[in-house]
Amino acid sequence: MLEEIKGIGPKTLKALNALGIYNIDDLISYYPYKYNILKPCFLSEAQADEAILINGYVENPVKIFFIKKNLNKLMFKLNTNQELINVVIFNRAFLKSQLNHNKLISVIGKYNKKNNTFIASDIKLTPITEEVIEPKYHLSSAIKKSSFIKIINSCISNDLNIKNYIPDYLKEKYKFIDKDSAIRIMHNPKKLEDLRQAKLVLAYEELFVFMLKINYIKLYKTSKQKSNVKNFDKEKIDKFIKKLPFTLTTDQIKTIETIENDFRSDRRMNRLILGDVGSGKTICSFIALYMNYLAGYQGILMAPTEILAEQHFNNICNVFKDLGLKIALLTSSVNRAKRSEVLSKIKSNDVDILIGTHSVLNDEINFNKLGLVITDEQHRFGVNQRNNLANKGKMPDVIYMSATPIPRTLALTLYGDMDISQIKTKPNSRKEINTKLYSFKDINQVLSLMLEEIKSNHQIYVVAPLIDSEESNEMESVNKLYMELNTAFNSKVPIKILHGKLNQKDKNDIMSDYKNNKIKILISTTVIEVGIDIKNATMMVIFNAERFGLATLHQLRGRIGRNDILSKCLLISDYESERLKILEQSNDGFYISEKDFEMRGSGDLFGTRQSGDMSFKIANIKTNIKILQKCKEDSEEFLKNNYYNLNKYLNLKEIINSININS
Ligand code: ADP
Ligand code: MG
Repeated sequence: MLEEIKGIGPKTLKALNALGIYNIDDLISYYPYKYNILKPCFLSEAQADEAILINGYVENPVKIFFIKKNLNKLMFKLNTNQELINVVIFNRAFLKSQLNHNKLISVIGKYNKKNNTFIASDIKLTPITEEVIEPKYHLSSAIKKSSFIKIINSCISNDLNIKNYIPDYLKEKYKFIDKDSAIRIMHNPKKLEDLRQAKLVLAYEELFVFMLKINYIKLYKTSKQKSNVKNFDKEKIDKFIKKLPFTLTTDQIKTIETIENDFRSDRRMNRLILGDVGSGKTICSFIALYMNYLAGYQGILMAPTEILAEQHFNNICNVFKDLGLKIALLTSSVNRAKRSEVLSKIKSNDVDILIGTHSVLNDEINFNKLGLVITDEQHRFGVNQRNNLANKGKMPDVIYMSATPIPRTLALTLYGDMDISQIKTKPNSRKEINTKLYSFKDINQVLSLMLEEIKSNHQIYVVAPLIDSEESNEMESVNKLYMELNTAFNSKVPIKILHGKLNQKDKNDIMSDYKNNKIKILISTTVIEVGIDIKNATMMVIFNAERFGLATLHQLRGRIGRNDILSKCLLISDYESERLKILEQSNDGFYISEKDFEMRGSGDLFGTRQSGDMSFKIANIKTNIKILQKCKEDSEEFLKNNYYNLNKYLNLKEIINSININS
């Protein structure tokens, strides 16, 4: 109980809850997101743009400026024994009374040589004289750092009573320190080496549990699950494929054949289709839905965003228009009446194919005869969610689609419980996308390229990291760009904005106007990152490109180049970056992900929107690849040796039992 800890009153409790901390376990595993290593240094050692710690004596007077509500500035001179520098710190007016003349303090921040000014982010009234490792927590303004640390410390000074998931024999094998110490070190590290050891155990444990689930599903569930054999008239499929406006690529055909074999076998299908953006996964999923329909079953296709669900719906209605299938759309913006109508039709088998967002999962939907569940953009799911889907009907076959460009070896580990089809080739009518880096001062060049594109009657996506400039003045925002581009083009070009905060109707209207070429420039946040398929859009302009990971940039770029016209991607950034140059050099998602991998830490393989089991507290799938590999082997071996007698490992038994899959 959190309330029992000294220092936690109702107000603090509320603040902790807002951080997702509801019990002691949450609290002690609320780890610092980073550590600052503080050690006094000399000004002469200061690198531009690097935070340092300087000790010195306060020179009075200390001046305060109240700039506006919630913003004040404290200024004084600091004597470092070698030089006299100006110190500036924001929002610490309350420190003034303690900054006595000649008091020795530490200031932490960045030094600007040019104006001899030190912009401090923190001031320590007790000076730091030797190296300390300072934990940094993500906290809200409702809770002070010092009180949070007090609470944590009082908590970890007691018995932790925490559940262990690493079997003893493995703990010994790797000479891991125990979990209690590891947790204490995370919050109070004395030495970097201790911290390394602590992170290692905690990361291992997370990945071990993760791999245990995957291997359990693989070894004892999916491989043994039966489903109904689905037979259908192959000729109808061939006829459908012939009528498509394009010929399928070899990998698409291979994927479709494999799906057909899965259907015809009595083993339940559990397949992941991995293919780079634009490789044409959607049509494979439509064909799978058609096969499933011909065999007499209902199917679902789910997408991560409403925009994408809507697009799939329009698309599939169009592709299947002469075939007589009944198709329905279900998203959270479908109104009540319509919704219950759809639900009752699903129940009475009056709907053959349901298209929806992932929220469909949470609904009570009674299918009459569900045979297939397809999830688009699978990388946003965790293992538990994977199984959730599978439970929607009596053993439906399951297909996931993902464009996550991850190296194959890693895919085989992370998705070890599934069969994988890879679509490596792109439709060959495709031209490579031409990608180029620009800095902000070249903006006129960018604008004239945009104008050219519009004159050829093509459309443009513009992406910015923020919706509103209020959020930060270091980055471009959708709203600001809207004004700027309207000014630049004299309001003669139809421009609209799109972001997650608009309501669904507006979003749909905007997307449909864009699709119909009524809008020439769509300025957006990364909401357009996944799936959107508009052939006439041939230019992607991304502002503050350095703010995005390579995988995201590559996905964004995948929105263009969807026909046989040469498409251009313009990345705008003032930061010379090796990372961004990789995008100039290559259009190959798998290559980019390998590179991203090599550079480590800078990438966003799984984006920031990790969910479910893929969001680890300590482990990092990119940097802990060796640990992941070990965990894969160790958990496999563990299951093989202990699965039929788990009583010695109750905690792990619990985990396995919590994965419920019908069998
Ligand atoms: P993704 O794999 O990123 O989901 P899509 O399925 O959206 O890609 O396909 C991108 C575009 O390519 C769509 O407009 C689709 O109609 C088209 N397409 C799919 N397969 C082919 C093909 N074999 N030849 C030409 N165009 C294709
Ligand atoms: Mg797609």
